[in-house]
Amino acid sequence: MPRQAEPSFRESTNIMFNNAVDLLDLPPGLVEKIRVCNATYTVRFGVRLRGDIHTFTGYRSVHSEHMEPVKGGIRYAMSVNQDEVEALAALMTYKCALVEAPFGGSKGGLCIDPREWEEDELERITRRFAYELAKRDLIHPSQNVPAPDMGTGEREMAWIADQYARMNTTDINSRACVTGKPISGGGIQGRTEATGRGVQYALQEFFRHPEDVKAAGLSGTLDGKRVIVQGLGNVGYHAAKFLSETDGCKVVGVLEYNGCVVNEDGIDIEALKQHLIAHGSPDGFAGGTIHPADAPILEMDADILVPAAMEGVINLNNADRIKTPLIIEAANGPVTSGADEILRKKGCVIIPDMYANAGGVTVSYFEWVKNLSHIRFGRMQRRQEEERHRLLIDELEVVTGQKLSDTFKQRYLHGAGELELVRSGLEDTMRGAYQDMRKVWHERDDVHDLRTAAYLVSINKVADSYRAKGL
Ligand code: GLU
Repeated sequence: MPRQAEPSFRESTNIMFNNAVDLLDLPPGLVEKIRVCNATYTVRFGVRLRGDIHTFTGYRSVHSEHMEPVKGGIRYAMSVNQDEVEALAALMTYKCALVEAPFGGSKGGLCIDPREWEEDELERITRRFAYELAKRDLIHPSQNVPAPDMGTGEREMAWIADQYARMNTTDINSRACVTGKPISGGGIQGRTEATGRGVQYALQEFFRHPEDVKAAGLSGTLDGKRVIVQGLGNVGYHAAKFLSETDGCKVVGVLEYNGCVVNEDGIDIEALKQHLIAHGSPDGFAGGTIHPADAPILEMDADILVPAAMEGVINLNNADRIKTPLIIEAANGPVTSGADEILRKKGCVIIPDMYANAGGVTVSYFEWVKNLSHIRFGRMQRRQEEERHRLLIDELEVVTGQKLSDTFKQRYLHGAGELELVRSGLEDTMRGAYQDMRKVWHERDDVHDLRTAAYLVSINKVADSYRAKGL
């Protein structure tokens, strides 16, 4: 079948933005100001590797500076281009506004296939890219704070943080120049799992509202729901693991770029991940049937589809064959504007990217605060909290003459450490933001989907901020 032409990722994001903003009574000049990307910096730099000079092209795009620093990941992929980083930077603006992370939106990318390079080569390339960005304040604790994205992780963030620190030896806050760092390099507990954990909290919150579950043609709780996950990278892996290990979901299909796994009884996600780490592809995995990468597993019958890989995977060419009544966009922009329209008409409920994958930037916010305050969360309070709980329990046992159960005592006496506080803050954020979206979805007659609702909530916040401070 011939592939249908679609607008670019940035155009697709703009179409969805325009659909939403038409419902708001904002001055056209302000709308334009919010929509456009403020600046995109392109850099080409050479690194001497394997006896040759290799030239790399990278970008850092700043969409909106209504709040600073601006925030957003750095992606390593061959497909990186200006259009893509601009679309992703715009999504960061709306995402941060929606979950009240006090940042503007930004995004970066480097055209590179990280699999082609050895670790020491990647380090040199990353440090050089970081140098180019840092010298223009496109990496800076109070101006622009990158984070991991597709193809990057805590290793790259540690190199970036170190590169910035070497260039700014007197900056006491230098660690706050990037988030998603390893714990030993100023990171925070729970950042690696954060986006996947956020997807789990988002689905849990969705299923707390029977009216919303019914709108998707589903019923009951997450328990027993059949899930398809596209992409078992950091986000897809954690989301699939948590949903199957703690919420009773059955992951019946996993799609990777080089093969798919199907198992109606539920795939053991940890086993599959270990297999992928050891062998690089699903081939030979015994916990399900293996299919080629182009098998139509995305179109399989299931309850929930979790696209967790890249933009545009659900598009005009496959949208009408997608059968899942509920899609949660763990990736950025996995559903094109055209596909979004087709799916909405079919009655499919889409939990939009700017909300669904906001767990990453939410915990990045906590990490940035931790770096600026130079102290780990919970360090001052934990033992004092435990002590007060101990006092209460001892007194209760004396007054009642009864012993409380050991299990209760253990749970009650345990003061929260950093990971528990991070999860608590993340859950609160995901629950609150969902409630803001659904209020608009249900209260406004002209809003028929969660994406439009999400845009309305966040555009209003960005507009308020511009109004308050002037342009
Ligand atoms: N790259 C992630 C995203 O798209 C995280 C961004 C961040 O933590 O700043 O949301």
